[in-house]
Amino acid sequence: MSDEQFVVTSTWQAQLSASLTCPEQLAELFGVDSAPLRLVAARYPLRITPHTLSLIEKPGDPIWKQCVPELPELVVDGLPEDSLNEANFSPVPAVVHRYPDRALLLVAGQCAGYCRFCTRKNRIGTSALAFSPVQLAEGIAYIQATSSIRDVILTGGDPLLLEDELLEDLLQQLHNIPHVEIIRIGSRVPVTLPKRITPALCRLLSRFHPLYLNTHFNHPRELTPESAIACARLADAGIPVGNQTVLLRGVNDDARVMSELCRGLLRMRVRPYYLHHLDQAQGTAHFRVPVEQGLAIVAAMRGQVSGLGIPQYVVDPPGGEGKVPLLPENLLELGETVKVRTTQGNVIVLPNRYGGC
Ligand SMILES: *Cc1c(COP(=O)(O)O)cnc(C)c1O
Ligand code: SF4
Repeated sequence: MSDEQFVVTSTWQAQLSASLTCPEQLAELFGVDSAPLRLVAARYPLRITPHTLSLIEKPGDPIWKQCVPELPELVVDGLPEDSLNEANFSPVPAVVHRYPDRALLLVAGQCAGYCRFCTRKNRIGTSALAFSPVQLAEGIAYIQATSSIRDVILTGGDPLLLEDELLEDLLQQLHNIPHVEIIRIGSRVPVTLPKRITPALCRLLSRFHPLYLNTHFNHPRELTPESAIACARLADAGIPVGNQTVLLRGVNDDARVMSELCRGLLRMRVRPYYLHHLDQAQGTAHFRVPVEQGLAIVAAMRGQVSGLGIPQYVVDPPGGEGKVPLLPENLLELGETVKVRTTQGNVIVLPNRYGGC
């Protein structure tokens, strides 16, 4: 598809409104039973953009698993609904302030498509995440009054579902705060609604540098020509684009798939940033992959992917103390000598302290 066709076919707003939200329609399209879809969609919102829908090859495939409601979401497993204890770190409703120097500003309550594994699935797409203009103003006032905050991360929901004018207004206000050194945007639209990344949006964003964007590809089949155009436009606008993947059972819990994803991201000038171990959120347990397997995947990638393309595997434990990197155990002993295991599995001992001068 040429860049030009991509622009003229329809607007991103039209694409978003053409999204699939009706369980019966979904069931009919794929010839599956609508009853379970209806049950789950009554509890957690369903929305699949036409772009994502076009990527599903068959029920149960890695694209399907991410966006189609499944009964295990309704299992009451005792996991918390606010797994990261965000409420305790919210000085005002639209802000999550957990590290002294960084704060999240929750600017949008909706996403282009709803991921079944979302940590905030209990609140996403509901009024609980839709903050009023007054609450957003309170959030910005909090950031302005808190000089330790150097890095503001726009999230939600998906900030790029805001219309350009509103986004521009928010970015301008943050940009005007002297102690805010960088702004980050977390958005899945390059994956689910790539048409949203218009030339006009990129021009707008490029006025607020240093601005970073982290997106969220989980599977190599999401690396489509449309998404590649979206990422290229962002990179051409001088925006460093990173990727946060969630490790998901049946989607990307495989070293070959993960390597292919990360190499493909590098080709699109997107830098793999984090590989998130699944958060402890109610209704997502069926996506859980054991940490041992996550570590084995990252270890296997070492030999197959440029260091530039290997994300940091992290877990965000309940309680909200912050992300913890999980590393394969390559450091076997640390003392007078250092004993390490190489990518090939050999054990090598090297001196740790050097005497003399
Ligand atoms: C992940 C996160 C950040 C950003 O963390 P980085 O490791 O700097 O990317 C900031 N605030 C909260 C609450 C977070 O969960
Ligand atoms: S795009 Fe992100 S915030 Fe939105 S539903 Fe998916 S995981 Fe949740």
